[in-house]
Amino acid sequence: MSKPQQLTILGATGSIGSSTLDIIRLNPQRYRVFAITAQQSVEKMRLLCEEFSPTYAVLVDKAAADALRAQLGKQSTTVVLAGTDALCDVCRDDRVDTVMAAIVGAAGLLPTLAAIDADKRVLLANKEALVMSGDLFIKRLRQSKAILLPVDSEHNAIFQSLPLKAQQRLGYCPLEELGINKLLLTGSGGPFLNAPLASLDDVTPEQACNHPNWSMGRKISVDSATMMNKGLEYIEARWLFDTRQDQIEVVIHPQSVIHSMVQYIDGSVIAQMGLPDMKTPIAYAMSYPERINSGVKALDFSLLKDFTFQQPDFERFPCLKLAIDACYQGQSATTALNAANEVSVAAFLANRIRFTDIAKINEQVLQRIGHGHTRSIDDILEVDVKAREYSHTIIAGVST
Ligand code: NDP
Ligand code: MG
Repeated sequence: MSKPQQLTILGATGSIGSSTLDIIRLNPQRYRVFAITAQQSVEKMRLLCEEFSPTYAVLVDKAAADALRAQLGKQSTTVVLAGTDALCDVCRDDRVDTVMAAIVGAAGLLPTLAAIDADKRVLLANKEALVMSGDLFIKRLRQSKAILLPVDSEHNAIFQSLPLKAQQRLGYCPLEELGINKLLLTGSGGPFLNAPLASLDDVTPEQACNHPNWSMGRKISVDSATMMNKGLEYIEARWLFDTRQDQIEVVIHPQSVIHSMVQYIDGSVIAQMGLPDMKTPIAYAMSYPERINSGVKALDFSLLKDFTFQQPDFERFPCLKLAIDACYQGQSATTALNAANEVSVAAFLANRIRFTDIAKINEQVLQRIGHGHTRSIDDILEVDVKAREYSHTIIAGVST
């Protein structure tokens, strides 16, 4: 039997991180947890350190790292590190084979790039990292020997439905040459697909986070309710699969059984299906090109009642339209939009703004900050900071 793969799990305490650890529990002979990271969740990290004995545990927050070190005590073999540089260090380490990039938001960019530069196998859940750096991210991938595997269920579904030649050229897939007409990106439409439009002003964070099909972290749950998530995924697909504008279409499929599809020029459509459980795409990315047990139940077609599709309504989901437009506006636009959205979603979750303010703030920031050239990751980080500052200024006006 071959040696177990050594994994660094960025965002180990989150929804994707926890599902990744569940798959490791089911397949302990194949994987070893080398490092786990989080921002400040001391208690969850302590339990994970006791169960998996990773070589390193990183908490970005220094006080949280000190607390974890104290709680683990001298008998623990895990070295506790603090700060953002340590996130990159545990990705680059020579002993690491695979990095699960599952930090939420822009904070995941630098460690994910560190993993790419160090030629790791990178399992990408952190879509914001790719959205905010697009072309530069793909260039770094091309210059490296890293292998990128999409974890986001739609991109994972598309990846599974593509021919091997496309899978091996992520970031620069010759779609047309391979007989591919279009990528069909499916989305459930979230909890407010059929809610009266006038009621959206008053929805609460709890209602927005109550997704009908998927169980996820709070930020992506709100993104699913605004359909900004599909917008971010549209941009993610544009970069992962090197598409032109006429090669991606968003299709609403409320049942979330088809996770996305690839349409070929001969009329064939290849779809990937399954229950809406992230453990399926995570397990696929972890074991590719093999398959392993993910613990997810088989799909029972006799229990499926409806199987429906519709076009997205941009009046209901203005964030989706903003993201698609930003995708063709240029890099500053998607960087600014992503940053604005992180700030506005956090403000909504903190009850500082209304649900419908998210799109309004995102649009204003996009108009003000979403222009200009970005030639380096530093330029991108500068746009990110400016967009966050401007978002905070608008929010201060809205919420006072
Ligand atoms: P969660 O909010 O559940 O978890 C986020 C993780 O990131 C936690 O471990 C958190 O640590 C850590 N984290 C948060 N902020 C920072 C920071 N500033 N620096 C370092 N670490 C940080 O998120 P999800 O698991 O839902 O999502 C993770 C990523 O995967 C997102 O990009 C999301 O879009 C993507 N994704 C998620 C899906 C899902 O089903 N959940 C589906 C497809 C994609 P702490 O616990 O200390 O806060
Ligand atoms: Mg998704």
